[in-house]
Amino acid sequence: QRIGIPRETFPLEKRVATVPEVVEKLIKLGFSVSVESGAGDAANFSDDAYRAAGAEILPTAAAVWSVADILFKVRPPTPEEVALMREGQILLDFIWPAQNPDLMQQLAAKKVTVLAIDSLPRTLSRAQKMDALTSMAGVSGYRAVIEAANAFGRYFNGQITAAGKVPPAKVFIAGAGVAGLSAIGTAANLGAIVRANDTRAEVADQVISLGGEFVKVDYEEDGAGGGGYAKVMSEGFQAAQRAMYAQQAKDVDIIITTALIPGKPAPKLITAEMVQSMKPGSVIVDMAAEQGGNCELTVPDKAVVRHGVTIIGYTDLASRLAKQSSTLYANNLLRLTEELCKAKDGVAVVNMEDDAIRGLTVVKNGDITWPAPPLAQA
Ligand code: NAD
Repeated sequence: QRIGIPRETFPLEKRVATVPEVVEKLIKLGFSVSVESGAGDAANFSDDAYRAAGAEILPTAAAVWSVADILFKVRPPTPEEVALMREGQILLDFIWPAQNPDLMQQLAAKKVTVLAIDSLPRTLSRAQKMDALTSMAGVSGYRAVIEAANAFGRYFNGQITAAGKVPPAKVFIAGAGVAGLSAIGTAANLGAIVRANDTRAEVADQVISLGGEFVKVDYEEDGAGGGGYAKVMSEGFQAAQRAMYAQQAKDVDIIITTALIPGKPAPKLITAEMVQSMKPGSVIVDMAAEQGGNCELTVPDKAVVRHGVTIIGYTDLASRLAKQSSTLYANNLLRLTEELCKAKDGVAVVNMEDDAIRGLTVVKNGDITWPAPPLAQA
């Protein structure tokens, strides 16, 4: 079978769904690969590099969609892209079925099969190698620190120089899931003093192991919901948390917020008043901007200055490190393709008896198969 890689069409998206070193491995699995000319340009992978790895380069998206049996993409397909699909094709892509019911109907009408990488059952340890939510969150957390450092007027690390003593920057991370932990490690590596808070007490040790300090809310309530995710906290907890965050806001230079609750708007953790209390020149990076933001003053996709504080609400942090994120994403899809092609004969088999594949498969030959039944052990 032939795997097709169209160029991403979403505005400003720089990622590409496979990279040359992975093309070689897909070919070893027995597949042939067609890449749209220019698909990797924004991530610094040239047509020549794909060609050298054994891929065929095609001039247009339409050509790729028409020859491919399996499509790899990053962003959910647009209506124009769905129109290019034909019966029997398999699409591996981010889909977000809950947020995109119309897209799901369009895909079903095309009688295709769709594996939504965002629907992977993440608690299966066997699935970790395919977990693109984790790999993209890791890149995003790193990039959030780089964006903060870029907007911040000082060093992160403390220094004693002939020109004077420089204090280390203080960074506070709200939410220590995958993205938050990546941000903690990155900021600590740059030499900042790093503190973090999460409603799930279980992450405290991970924060410390990455060089951060875990700051507790003075209120007895654990935030663990199901499957490693957080729940909405009680009013009492939220009030105690706001008091602690208000103190941190006055003291730190940089706040990076990552707090999310599945199926709910992002909790509002940083009020306008807290922003106003920060030192001039401070920076907030709100990684929850797309889900409504953790900070009241965030503007999605923009960097704005409010009360002398730069508030960054970029929703494309992974795309801003496109070579890295594309490489990790390509590896996640390679691992998934290996699961689909255990015989290494260049033919993908979507086995609905397999828990991981069942969870991923949101449309099967035109039937909507989302949401998957819960895992037996979950
Ligand atoms: P997420 O993006 O949903 O949330 C980010 C963080 O925000 C979470 O740690 C959450 O607890 C925190 N948060 C939510 N509300 C908050 C609030 N009011 N105040 C402060 N913090 C708040 O989560 P994620 O990064 O996708 O990961 C969630 C969990 O899933 C983690 O424990 C992670 O290790 C786990 N996980 C497990 C697997 C696996 O088992 N294979 C794979 C990936 C992730």
